[in-house]
Order: sequence, then structure tokens, then C-alpha cells
Amino acid sequence: MTSSTRETRTVQAMHAIDRLTGAVIPPLHTSTTYARDADNALIGAQDYRRPKGPTEQQAAQVLAMLDDGADARLFSSGMAAIAAVLESVPTGGHVVAQTEMYYGARGLLQRALAKKRITLNLVAPGDLDALTAAARPATDLIWIETPANPSWAIVDIAKAADIAHAVGATLAVDSTCAPPCTTRPLELGADIVMHSATKYLNGHSDVLAGALVTRKSDTRWDEICEIHNKTGAIPGAFETWLLLRGLRTLHIRYARQSGTALWLAEQLAADTRLAAVHYPGLPGHPGHDVARRQMTGGFGGMLSVELAGGFEAARRFAAATKIFIQATSLGGVESLIEHRKPVEGADSPVPDALVRLSVGLETPADLLADIDQALAAAAATSKE
Ligand SMILES: *Cc1c(COP(=O)(O)O)cnc(C)c1O
Repeated sequence: MTSSTRETRTVQAMHAIDRLTGAVIPPLHTSTTYARDADNALIGAQDYRRPKGPTEQQAAQVLAMLDDGADARLFSSGMAAIAAVLESVPTGGHVVAQTEMYYGARGLLQRALAKKRITLNLVAPGDLDALTAAARPATDLIWIETPANPSWAIVDIAKAADIAHAVGATLAVDSTCAPPCTTRPLELGADIVMHSATKYLNGHSDVLAGALVTRKSDTRWDEICEIHNKTGAIPGAFETWLLLRGLRTLHIRYARQSGTALWLAEQLAADTRLAAVHYPGLPGHPGHDVARRQMTGGFGGMLSVELAGGFEAARRFAAATKIFIQATSLGGVESLIEHRKPVEGADSPVPDALVRLSVGLETPADLLADIDQALAAAAATSKE
């Protein structure tokens, strides 16, 4: 089995046929506690469900295999996974992150800064000179996100890892929008990869979960495992089982979503109703060359457009689609659309006219026709 591809092993959930029953589909283990024999020895490998029962164990093994890591842990959400990494930073430790990143994670960092738990520098994603200047011997953690929400700026992971390691810092990568079927940050030198499994990994918008995968079992990882166990932010067994089910089709979903998003971006690139189209698969995107090297399985299903008509046009456009559902989140089989600025708030660096699209599995031509009619509707209303 070991010579088969990651895809093959994922499709078969690592060939985990249940020995007890022969079931081809992994069983769902809901027990929180595990029995001992007459000698008080555990009958199986577990004693208690926190931090992980057999279902979580199996999903974590698939994730560690996919990301080529030494170990993986599942969390109750992506935010809980990020919080565990942040908690592992010693009090007063220096953190470098991005001006543009998932706004929930930025908020968590700013909260730790306000409470004087950490010191913090934010640099523009992809600006390696700024990253080099910000990193110093006291830096404990460099946190990058690539592609970065919501302009999909690309960070060169291998170069960021060199910068981090030159000062003895840990490089953690939020790879939510570049799952392991396209990018494996640990192979590029990152120390920890984080996923909101709520997004592409599960892919069906019905599970909230997060994951961390480590390149090596070092003291930082021991600390994170301790935090995971002591704070107990673990997903439910059923959520984990659904995640395992979703993972088995990840590469197929992601390839189709990437193909459709690239085609849509190409069709929209010259549309005069749009001031900008942000997609790393377009040759004009500033991170395109790095993305071609780093996103080997596709540029993803996320693209953003900026309406030429500004904030109001963006608001009308996002409200006028009939197939794209106006909702937050990303990576599910159904296409979503979101006017981002009102979601993130006035202090967000996101442009007023930016609309974020999460491309799903619908027929590409239907999606283009929907965007076209919504752009027309947004323009028509503006002339009234
Ligand atoms: C959604 C998201 C998160 C947070 O994950 P949750 O599962 O919602 O807690 C973190 N990073 C990125 C890039 C995300 O899109």
C-alpha cells in the first residue's frame, strides 16, 4: 500500500477496512470512554476521547499523510487550531503575520497584542523584504497565509521558511485555500500547516473543524498537543466522520473548482464592468509565477473581483446572483458570493468594491451566465 499515491490512499481512507465487521466505510466511534481488562490494562489503544478517539485518529492519519507530516491534530474549528498555535508562543514572544489575512486570525493576534501576551508586526503578504526586516532573533512565530484572503496574494513558502529559520522562528502556514492536493507547505520547509477543515477539506459546508499538521515532533509540537489536550477544543465524532468522508473526494472537487475558477477569471479579466479580477492563475496576478511552482494541483476555487462602480455596485452585484448564494465561507460544493467589506468592518484593509467568489461544482457556463446577469443588474440599478 505504501507505494500508492496520496489520492489512492485518501480515497480508501488509508485502506482502513474494519477488522471486526469487514465494513469498507470507516465506522463512526462515538464512545467517550474505553474499557480495561481484569489487569486494569486498556483493551484497545484509547482510554478517553479527549484528545482523540479512533475516528479522530483515523482522520488525523489521513491528514498527516496528505501533508507529509510527522503528526496531525484535529480541532473543533480552524480558529481553535490557530488559537492553540498562538497559545504556544511564550509570553512576550514576537510574532510576525500579514496585513492581509483571514480577519478572524488577525483579530485573535490583535487581541493577544492588546493583552500584552505577544508583540506583533504585520507585513504585506508576499513582501519578502518586509518579512526579512520584521524577523529578528526574538521572533518566535511567523504566520503566513497563502493564497491570502481576499486578494489571493501569494507568499513564497520556501523563502518564508528560510527567513523564519535564519532567526530560529517557527513558520506556520494557513493553507486553508491551498489544501494538500495543490500545496504541501511542510515539503517546502514550513514547520506547521493549519487548515480550516470547514472549507475545502470537508467541502460540503456541513462541518466546523480545524487541523494542524507538523513537520516534526519537536518541543513546539509537544506544547501544542498539551494545549490541545488540556483545552479540549476537539471536534465531535460525527463531524470527524463527515470530514473523513469529505476528504475522500478532495482532489476531485479541488481540481474541478480550480478549472472552473480559472475559466471564469479568464472570461472576466477583460470585462469593463470590473476594475480588477484577482486570481493567482491569471498571468497578470503578482504572485502568478510563485503560484505556478507552489500550487501544483490548481490555483483553487477562490477569486475576487472589484466592481468599477464602487461599494454600491458591489453590494448590488452580490445581491443579484441567482446561482451563487450570498453567504460567507468557502470551499463547499455550492458556489458562494460575498461583498467582503461590510463583513470585515470599517477598519479592514479590504477594498470597498471587492466581491469574493467561492466557486463550487455547478456547470461553469451557468456560473458565468449568473455573474453576467448580476453585473448587468448591478449596472442597470446604478443608472436609475
Ligand atoms: C474560515 C477560515 C479560518 C477559520 O476557520 P473556522 O473553521 O471557521 O474556525 C481560518 N483561515 C482561513 C483562511 C479561513 O478561510
